[in-house]
Amino acid sequence: MQQQSISLDRKIRIICEDITTLHVDAIVNAANNSLLGGGGVDGAIHRAAGPALLGECRKLKGCKTGEAKMTNGYDLPATYIIHTVGPIYQGGESGEADLLAACYANSLKLAQEKGVRSIAFPCISTGVYHYPKEEAADIALNEIRKFLQSSDSSIETVYIVCFGQVAFDIYKRKLALLSAQR
Ligand code: ADP
Repeated sequence: MQQQSISLDRKIRIICEDITTLHVDAIVNAANNSLLGGGGVDGAIHRAAGPALLGECRKLKGCKTGEAKMTNGYDLPATYIIHTVGPIYQGGESGEADLLAACYANSLKLAQEKGVRSIAFPCISTGVYHYPKEEAADIALNEIRKFLQSSDSSIETVYIVCFGQVAFDIYKRKLALLSAQR
């Protein structure tokens, strides 16, 4: 994967990477309601973290859409995994935007409670859950910026991890627009 990185206010960094390789305090998993693993980034995280992750996830008894729960990172370079469940996109009239926003807000809140300083998000819901990538990027940036501006949080760096050029180019354009608005 190409090594690329752009940033906003030095605190938000957009990178093209496999999230399972990142040396950060916490990575976020785009999980499903069962929290028992799945495909996409969820499968990659479970494979890289090892079987002990599933054992801890079983004890969590699932997670509602928009909420977030934390586990250890096990064999990952990241210390923690924050599991959040994004909405399945059904056309946009079923509260998807609020639920996706809640994923980011609740993950950041949980990270802050645990004293996390660096956290990495995948592009939640934009894989098999089919959330339109442009709209999902607006929601992610909005929630992350809102959080960083409103709290004296421990969080120093928020990585948005793009798994491919399409997502990266979307964020690149949006960051250019936000920077130009200053
Ligand atoms: P969802 O069910 O929330 O849509 P997916 O795992 O299908 O979850 O996709 C969410 C995003 O994660 C997609 O943009 C996908 O390209 C990305 N992704 C998949 N594998 C990885 C990975 N190893 N690292 C970072 N992002 C990933």
